[in-house]
Amino acid sequence: MFADLHLHTSFSDGTFSPEEVVVHAQRYGFSALSLTDHDTVEGCERMSRACVAAGIEFLVGSELTAEMSGHELHLLAYGLDLTNPRLLAELAKFQEVRQQRIREMVICLNKLGIPLPVEAVFALANCRAPGRPHVARALVQAGLCPTLDLAFERFLKKGKPAWVPKFKMSAVEAIALIHETGGLAVLAHPGLNRTDEFIPELNAGGLDGIECFHAKHSTAMAEHYLMIADQYSLLVTGGSDCHGLNKGKPLIGTIKLPYEHVAALKARLAENQAKAASRHLQPAIPS
Ligand code: AMP
Ligand code: FE
Ligand code: FE
Ligand code: ZN
Repeated sequence: MFADLHLHTSFSDGTFSPEEVVVHAQRYGFSALSLTDHDTVEGCERMSRACVAAGIEFLVGSELTAEMSGHELHLLAYGLDLTNPRLLAELAKFQEVRQQRIREMVICLNKLGIPLPVEAVFALANCRAPGRPHVARALVQAGLCPTLDLAFERFLKKGKPAWVPKFKMSAVEAIALIHETGGLAVLAHPGLNRTDEFIPELNAGGLDGIECFHAKHSTAMAEHYLMIADQYSLLVTGGSDCHGLNKGKPLIGTIKLPYEHVAALKARLAENQAKAASRHLQPAIPS
């Protein structure tokens, strides 16, 4: 039995619907999946329904944009309470900033003489958590740039003329938010962000796990992060980070996380829930 705990849909910058992701997952025989769209949980309900119909276990998730000492890092949040008002309010804030950032990126492009209408980006994105890949796709679709990669190279990569910084919550605050809303916080693709130096501080801030297996991690990287997970007693997770057809071939199927890691994650979630319930039942200390 195996799982993919890092997937994107068209509720953020993936190209598949939740139902399409599940169809792909069924072909590979996955037992469990999580949906981790950027700064949103909107696709989770549909994905959950599609998983139930396919006999696949579903774990609620999201990928939050965070920062530590000015460096961007991504935190995967698993097992969140989708009805928590604080969670929904914080995500709405992330989404508003993402939409504003799209407007600013398009203004930069227009100033460069590239006549991309902002409506074209919003129409293509058709979601509340739009990002740079939508701008890139809109540029290609409008014939203003030949490929997605070139759109990033010419305009959208950090330091390029239409790059606009993104709002990021401090990683320690994000971990606290994830915990407050019933979830577990996992450091996403540490091999891509080169965030090793932050692991001790993240661990002290309550980090629960580390994504050791990722489509862009080499075997050596996976082994390196398995050692770190062991050193700090962190949960081990993994996923493909599939964005559908955004990057050519769908990555789903490239990572098959052994189910024992999902079982460990669920056990930790159940433990936390039991602790929260017992705290709730504690009689108030008489003054
Ligand atoms: P954003 O969250 O708006 O900053 O966009 C980041 C997303 O852009 C990441 O999740 C990647 O999926 C995607 N991305 C980053 N660099 C590239 C690239 N060179 N080509 C295609 N997609 C990219
Ligand atoms: Fe993405
Ligand atoms: Fe990420
Ligand atoms: Zn991702």
